[in-house]
Amino acid sequence: MTAPLVDPFQRAISYLRVSVTDRCDFRCVYCMAENMQFLPKKELLTLEELDRMCSTFVGLGVRKLRITGGEPLVRRDIMTFFRAMSRHLESGALHELTLTTNGSQLFRFADDLYAAGVRRVNISLDTLDEAKFARVTRWGRLPQVLKGIDAAQRAGLRVKINTVALKGFNEDELFTLQDWCAERGMDLTFIEVMPMGDLGGEDRVGQFWSLKDLRAQLAQRFTLEDIPKRTGGPARYARMAETGQEIGFITPLTHNFCESCNRVRLTCTGELYMCLGQEDMADLRTPLRASPDDAVLENAIRAAISLKPKGHDFDYSRQIADGQMTRHMSHTGG
Ligand code: SAM
Ligand code: SF4
Repeated sequence: MTAPLVDPFQRAISYLRVSVTDRCDFRCVYCMAENMQFLPKKELLTLEELDRMCSTFVGLGVRKLRITGGEPLVRRDIMTFFRAMSRHLESGALHELTLTTNGSQLFRFADDLYAAGVRRVNISLDTLDEAKFARVTRWGRLPQVLKGIDAAQRAGLRVKINTVALKGFNEDELFTLQDWCAERGMDLTFIEVMPMGDLGGEDRVGQFWSLKDLRAQLAQRFTLEDIPKRTGGPARYARMAETGQEIGFITPLTHNFCESCNRVRLTCTGELYMCLGQEDMADLRTPLRASPDDAVLENAIRAAISLKPKGHDFDYSRQIADGQMTRHMSHTGG
């Protein structure tokens, strides 16, 4: 048995998030500029390289893989990769294979994902109003996403909706979204907007809607019971006594969750980010391409994990996006 991955702060690394493309069919205002420059194809790990990379992590004790992007389902032949990863589910080495998607392609892929062993999917959706949806995603169409959500549920996938809380945008839909999810048996997680990237003049601070406020509004109508569920990430969960629905709160700016962090993030070019809030990364593409011997890659992964920082450093306290990251969420996959 090879020793599992443990960082200098005794945190076992069991969760890998993998961005399989930087491209997307949407241009959400908080995530991308309208005219994004995408990476040339040769920079990207091929699907075979992604397989080797993820398989090596699984060999080192990663038990959960989340596929993200950009939009993972716009990567050509991505189902080949999902099918390849299912062998690790079958062997028992991998406990969960999942993805975060904008939902636009789910009407095509929901059944194939289920067949590859995916059982849960996170779908990002900030509004149920068609015009507002077009405004926030710039290029997206709500009916197509709703069709995808239907397909996912029909295929047997458990759906969780991720909603970015945006001041002056979806505050008025808090209960509409919550009711809609409850009716469909879907859990709902709210995300505080993070200061990522330079999006060409968008006023990110102005868009910030504190989840503390959001939770207080929910609590006026429902009884929220905190549940001890911990995923090793920034999410905290509560159950609505009246509906049984789980509501998640991801507050990376106001909560310190670093002590239980169990995850690292791989970009589509093979950079490993040890912390979402820090610029430090390790290039794994070079060792991967340098030798067909997985031991070289393994050593590079261990060296990277030994550099995982203790915590991150966002600060909104002075209404200035201090600690603001220069890379986009679509680069590290959120
Ligand atoms: N395209 C897929 C999607 O939208 O679900 C996966 C990638 S996307 C970068 C992952 C998640 O990051 C989405 O839920 C999105 O809403 C969230 N996200 C993007 N930019 C963000 C920001 N600046 N602050 C908070 N969440 C953000
Ligand atoms: Fe695309 Fe997801 Fe970013 Fe929206 S949040 S632009 S869907 S990657």
